[in-house]
Amino acid sequence: MLKRLPLLFLLAALCVPAQARVDQVTYMKNGAYAGKIGTYALAGASYLDSRQAAKLLGGKIYWAPVSGKLTLQMKGKTVVFYMKSESVLVNGESVTFPNPMIVRGGKAFLALDFFTSKHFADAFGFRLDFNPETSVLAASREVTVTSVNYFSHPDKTRVVVYMEEPLEFQASQKENNLYSVNIFGGVIAREERLSVPDGVVRGIDLLQENKTARLVISPGENFGKVSAFRLSDPDRLVIDVSKLVVPVSQSITGDAPAEPSAPAAPPAAEGVTVITPSAGIPAPAEQPVPTAGGMALPDKLQTGSGRKKIVIDPGHGGKDPGGQKLFGLKEKEINLSVAKALYDLLKGEEAFDVMMTRDTDEFIPLADRSVIANNFKADMFISIHANAARNRAEKGFEIYFMSEKASDPWAAEVADFENSVIGLEDGGGQSDPAALLLHSMARNEYLNEGSQLAGLVSAEMEKRTPFVSRGVKQAAFYVLRGTYSPGILVEVGFMTNSSDQKHMNNKATREKVANAIYRGVMKYAEMKKWK
Ligand SMILES: [Zn+2]
Repeated sequence: MLKRLPLLFLLAALCVPAQARVDQVTYMKNGAYAGKIGTYALAGASYLDSRQAAKLLGGKIYWAPVSGKLTLQMKGKTVVFYMKSESVLVNGESVTFPNPMIVRGGKAFLALDFFTSKHFADAFGFRLDFNPETSVLAASREVTVTSVNYFSHPDKTRVVVYMEEPLEFQASQKENNLYSVNIFGGVIAREERLSVPDGVVRGIDLLQENKTARLVISPGENFGKVSAFRLSDPDRLVIDVSKLVVPVSQSITGDAPAEPSAPAAPPAAEGVTVITPSAGIPAPAEQPVPTAGGMALPDKLQTGSGRKKIVIDPGHGGKDPGGQKLFGLKEKEINLSVAKALYDLLKGEEAFDVMMTRDTDEFIPLADRSVIANNFKADMFISIHANAARNRAEKGFEIYFMSEKASDPWAAEVADFENSVIGLEDGGGQSDPAALLLHSMARNEYLNEGSQLAGLVSAEMEKRTPFVSRGVKQAAFYVLRGTYSPGILVEVGFMTNSSDQKHMNNKATREKVANAIYRGVMKYAEMKKWK
């Protein structure tokens, strides 16, 4: 392979005219990174490598260099292009399109404008959008059911189907407990199969059947009662399967007898139980709404001791020092110090159980931090960091909450940096952090809560600390994404700004920051009637 490289470079250099730029666009499907497509720029227009584009879009290219005819086949539809012709045959019908195709280095390139055109959308039934700033080509589809995920709780397994709109559904249960839900008008991007190792549910399948998306839940041995309901913002269908309590006589360990158990037998299912949802359940809260044949389960936030669990996450640590500093404390040290002060304040509250992801200078991978939070069954996750910028004039605090998209390019840059630690992690290091970021992030159920908490903490920071406000922002932080609780990430100030860094080197100021976060958390708790 190596021997061929110089030749390739030589060929590329010969074939590419000086003014042309060979580049790439990123293709995203359903908000998830799907791959790269080579581009060719000519006279101000971009062209896509037809073969790479077709492959990523799920189609095929038939290219006849001699006759100059290129056929793009996809989803049973066909578009034919001819070299040096403005006439394009879309499913047999001729449409006019300026400069649709060029040939370079023996490869056929198709105009990017064609992919984003109405002709394309009409031909294949989905639309592509191109963002020149990010070089992202995104399939914005008629897909209405975007993904499925599950969350194992001690008392139940929650299956969540994410939808683009509140689609009607009908659930049914077979004699063998196989539970299926038809989602009318549901179009899935791809079939999905999840195996669930929690004993309640064994597997989840998301399938396409004509105009209906079909979710099939295979029961595990502890499959209990099921309730299905819709939640909004984002629109999603939730199926809660309660964990069947194993009767005492079957208990192997002979542990303390359980409460009078749930019905030993799974819900009597004579033939098929049909559950039709009432239209538009208004549900900002996560409270399951009982449906016929289902049963209401307590929300996670209302079980247990009643004390709310808060996880404080001091960013970085150990071999990962964090961002660049001008002088004084390293980011990992600032973070830990603020976190410890915050811990002491929250620990003093009756209403909370508090824990830290680290309380020493140790390296903890990002994924482990969210696992720690989830195992602790956190109701809130607060990650603490300090900022850095190339421009030393940049200063102030920022409060981030988890979001699929960054609120601005700066927010994206901050998230990139904080996520970059993934490269330091052993084994599971992803070579391309962008791929991680771009993965479907619609799965965070706690966006709204995160934004509320961020707003309250930001107001207190403004009032109680010397740092100027740069506001509440959104970005895709890995550490927030993996947690199943509302989460914020606080960037206290800029280590690259001498005034901010002086403040952060000062213990009294760090305590002011901790106090501000604490006050924000208390306001949030009040609002949520946590105490
Ligand atoms: Zn950081």
